[in-house]
Amino acid sequence: MLAADDPIPYRVRRVEGSSPYVLVCEHAGNRIPKALDNLGLGDYDLSRHIAWDIGAEAVADGVSEILDATLVTQPYSRLVVDCNRWANDPEIVPTQCDGTAIAGNRELSSCDVANRIDAIHKPFHERLAGELDRKKQAGRPKALVTIHSFTPEMSGSKRPWQVGVIYNREGRLAESLIDLFAREEGLVVGDNEPFRMSDDNVYTVPSHGEGRGIPTVELEIRQDLIGDGKGQEYWAHLLGGVLRQALETLDMGRVRHHLSSGSLA
Ligand SMILES: [Zn+2]
Repeated sequence: MLAADDPIPYRVRRVEGSSPYVLVCEHAGNRIPKALDNLGLGDYDLSRHIAWDIGAEAVADGVSEILDATLVTQPYSRLVVDCNRWANDPEIVPTQCDGTAIAGNRELSSCDVANRIDAIHKPFHERLAGELDRKKQAGRPKALVTIHSFTPEMSGSKRPWQVGVIYNREGRLAESLIDLFAREEGLVVGDNEPFRMSDDNVYTVPSHGEGRGIPTVELEIRQDLIGDGKGQEYWAHLLGGVLRQALETLDMGRVRHHLSSGSLA
């Protein structure tokens, strides 16, 4: 499905990053493969939150730089195929989003959907799995953090949280981050808000994070706060700071020492 001049469906930055964290941004981009003719959408809709997580990639890149953490991003619009959903999720290729009909996604065959998964979702997640496994083999403990952004208003209701900490079965990192964010004056922190994670409604955290038994969390930042470079820089520093402090709570520094000296299998 991807043409020779369409980009590959992942980008890895700081591949040799020294941080125990691996960062992910599944909804980083709003590109559409040339063959899909912009899914019948105009530039306005492709620039909106329905197509991508506005500001999230810039924040994730900033956090990656601050922590020296490997970052894996995905450049195609989630309207092409949502890389934070399971392959069997009926919403993996949405036919409508926040009231907007996605013309190019109507009446797709299961083969059409499978082609998009094979072209984008599968190679992106294989690359991410490869990074996590490679770091594990290198004896470096890790935690997986996915960075997203959410629209300030959805289906007519306003969302008061500036940041949401979204988690499922694995709550160690989430608990620590919620405590640390709560120390920031004036910050309204969503505890599993603006949505609650389950085994089924997202892919990356349950599959890659909980599947490996490592601390893992999805962070959601409200888009109006990270719409420009100044906001993105502010949030990159805030996230970088709390993630660094959370390492001490999780005692990952100590674990890393043991692992690197070979005394802990
Ligand atoms: Zn997202």
